[in-house]
Amino acid sequence: MANVKWDKSSGWDLPSDFSMPTAREIEVDLALGSDSWQSLLTDRPSRVPPPSGRHAIVVGGSMAGLLAARVLADHFDRVTIVDRDRLPVQAKFRDGVPQSRHLHALLKRGLNVLEELFPGLESELLGAEAVRLTGTDFLRMSAAGWARRFEGPPLIAASRELIEWSVRSRTLQHPRVSVLEEQDVVGLVLSPDGSAVGGVQIRARGAHRLSNENATLCGELVIDAGGRSSRAPEWLASVGFSKPQETVINSFLGYASCVFAPAPGFHADWKVLMLGDKPPSMPRAGALFPIEGNRWMVTLAGYARDYPPTDTAGFMEFARSLRSDILYRTIKDAEPLSRISGFRTTLNQRRHFESLARWPERFVVVGDAACAFNPVYGQGMSVAAMTAIALKQSLAEHVERRGLSDLTGFARRMQRMVAKTSQGAWVIATGADARYPSTEGRQPRFVDRIMHAYLDRVIEVSMQDPTVNEAFLRVVHLLDAPTALFRPAVAKRALAGVPRPIVDPPTRTRQPVLRTAKGGAV
Ligand SMILES: Cc1cc2nc3c(=O)[nH]c(=O)nc-3n(C[C@H](O)[C@H](O)[C@H](O)COP(=O)(O)OP(=O)(O)OC[C@H]3O[C@@H](n4cnc5c(N)ncnc54)[C@H](O)[C@@H]3O)c2cc1C
Repeated sequence: MANVKWDKSSGWDLPSDFSMPTAREIEVDLALGSDSWQSLLTDRPSRVPPPSGRHAIVVGGSMAGLLAARVLADHFDRVTIVDRDRLPVQAKFRDGVPQSRHLHALLKRGLNVLEELFPGLESELLGAEAVRLTGTDFLRMSAAGWARRFEGPPLIAASRELIEWSVRSRTLQHPRVSVLEEQDVVGLVLSPDGSAVGGVQIRARGAHRLSNENATLCGELVIDAGGRSSRAPEWLASVGFSKPQETVINSFLGYASCVFAPAPGFHADWKVLMLGDKPPSMPRAGALFPIEGNRWMVTLAGYARDYPPTDTAGFMEFARSLRSDILYRTIKDAEPLSRISGFRTTLNQRRHFESLARWPERFVVVGDAACAFNPVYGQGMSVAAMTAIALKQSLAEHVERRGLSDLTGFARRMQRMVAKTSQGAWVIATGADARYPSTEGRQPRFVDRIMHAYLDRVIEVSMQDPTVNEAFLRVVHLLDAPTALFRPAVAKRALAGVPRPIVDPPTRTRQPVLRTAKGGAV
């Protein structure tokens, strides 16, 4: 767009080649903070990406999109994140990420990757009052009973809002990354020969909406990180490609969550409480994690449509009905700080983009948009982080081989990497969900039954054997592939015999496990 200058005495001073922009062009330019319109505004950020150069577009500014954008910024001159939400400047709830009202455990693998991409992030989270955890901080009951309080690698507990905000702040500090807020991506734009994606169509929302027109945002690479509700299959179909096949495995798990403040005088010798289900007879589970601001995030979960209620009395009753009443006794005198939120879209959903016979160049789908997991295993953010590392490596290799000006073959290879990166987490989540006969999409096969029997053994032994416990936790935290549980060192111990289950919650010190405000102790 031509440069426009404001002449105070005579009004608009227009260059001879000036043509009036459409309302939609103005919207997009304003939102991008482009040079031409920035001069008319006083509150635009001073840091504006150069309008030329290689441009990558990321659909969705949540965890998968932010991490992808950070990686792309090492190669592209400009990276534009497009999100339908206005992204809050603080760690706050937003409509596009409704799951943030629920417990978000950051697995060790995810934490490692975040620290690799954003050195110092862990300290920043702690500075914002996130809580550092070690293995002994966990009071954990699995299907096989209570677990001994083993030492373990340090982890960080925080609200999902704080985790995303920390990653967002760091990503948007990058001079090549900008964000286009309150813009819905509604379709793909193909290159003239139809072989490659050359941009996206966007439609404004909220305050940015001046017209009903769509606008085109052009780029050399488009990454869709639009989450479970991504319409990538429909977008592909509308430009002449096939929709991918989908695998859906649904254990009909529901969540209900509430944030609490501990009651004054409350004392426990643990920071995290995890009470597992026991398939198939006991489908209920619950967890309490500390989050910033000396608060607790409490999430109750029920498989097989045994959904936890979202009214106070029902929530408390569900908590009381878990395999131990310790969670109930912990929260009964605590102060609720939020309403109770429910969530039921928890199915494992995999879209097999990597298997399509034809795939457009320069388009990649990542994060939940490609593969979403039953959240109870806490994997989604970590898989998004692992995919970002795969993107970093694939892009570096491609650039070294062919440069950035020729992206032929990159998208296809990267899409296969996305599938590969999700595989371990998918096996864990769907294998565990298949333990409930009511799960749809995957009935346990003969081989699953043998696998379940072996894994039951591993879990039972891991409750008390430090070697097996470490191997098990490394798989859960996505540090090792599930096959690590079949290594001789683990198998030998797991098959040697099962110790008697621990019946009472084990203490870390001689202190009671829990002392409630009203004096009750365990
Ligand atoms: C109840 C629940 C609990 C969870 N607990 C955990 C946990 O403990 N640990 C963990 O690691 N993971 C957990 N997850 C998973 C985790 O939330 C996601 O895997 C993670 O956020 C990565 O998702 P994403 O970035 O791909 O998509 P999302 O987080 O869903 O974000 C999608 C983004 O795209 C934007 N968007 C969508 N469509 C468009 C469009 N057309 N145009 C513009 N913008 C668009 C949205 O506004 C949003 O910002 C949980 C999920 C749920 C549902």
